[in-house]
Amino acid sequence: MAEPLRAPRLSDIGVDTARPLLIVDVDEVLGLFMEGFGRFLEDRGLEFRVDKFALFQNIYRPGDAEHLEIDQGRKHYEDFFRYGCGDMTPTPGGAQALRRLSERAGVVILTNAPGPARLARARWLGRHGMDYPLILNTGPKGPLAAGLASQTAGRAVFIDDLIPNLDSVAESAPAISRFQHVADPRLRPLAPAKPDLHTRIDDWEELRAAIEDAIA
Ligand SMILES: [Mg+2]
Repeated sequence: MAEPLRAPRLSDIGVDTARPLLIVDVDEVLGLFMEGFGRFLEDRGLEFRVDKFALFQNIYRPGDAEHLEIDQGRKHYEDFFRYGCGDMTPTPGGAQALRRLSERAGVVILTNAPGPARLARARWLGRHGMDYPLILNTGPKGPLAAGLASQTAGRAVFIDDLIPNLDSVAESAPAISRFQHVADPRLRPLAPAKPDLHTRIDDWEELRAAIEDAIA
């Protein structure tokens, strides 16, 4: 089994360890992933149907009742990260909220994305006013988030759309405040939630206020 990714030293990536720390996801948090991936698939003559909270099971050939083979879906997904993820629309209010939060906290972007996405993703973040240190991860995010949070003196906050990532952080580092944010309005009613365990806030302005309270 691959060894879990080691957390980089925050001081090496320019994050002040004396301040609170925000660990923020990209897809469906800072960017409208499903919308961007859907457009990418349409350009390839495919359809992305947002009728369940799934990924590969939502890709269809037009008119088909059965979704595309999972392996083919995965290939398009990897291609999106290689060629298409630089065109994603930022989540309304996300960059502005982060900018305000960065006045009182360090920000690290923690994204589960294939390696070839690094450059396109970093450029996309920079182009949209979110030029914060970027860490690519695979698998559960808990161990890496724990490794980052352990280096800070202040509070740490973790924001993600996916329950498995939030659960993983709850397990590895329960002291980290956790927020679930689902950026795409079409996904909100479909996305599983555990509001008793992870605070669910889908509006960035409201989320910013809640994070400010959490790090106060
Ligand atoms: Mg995400």
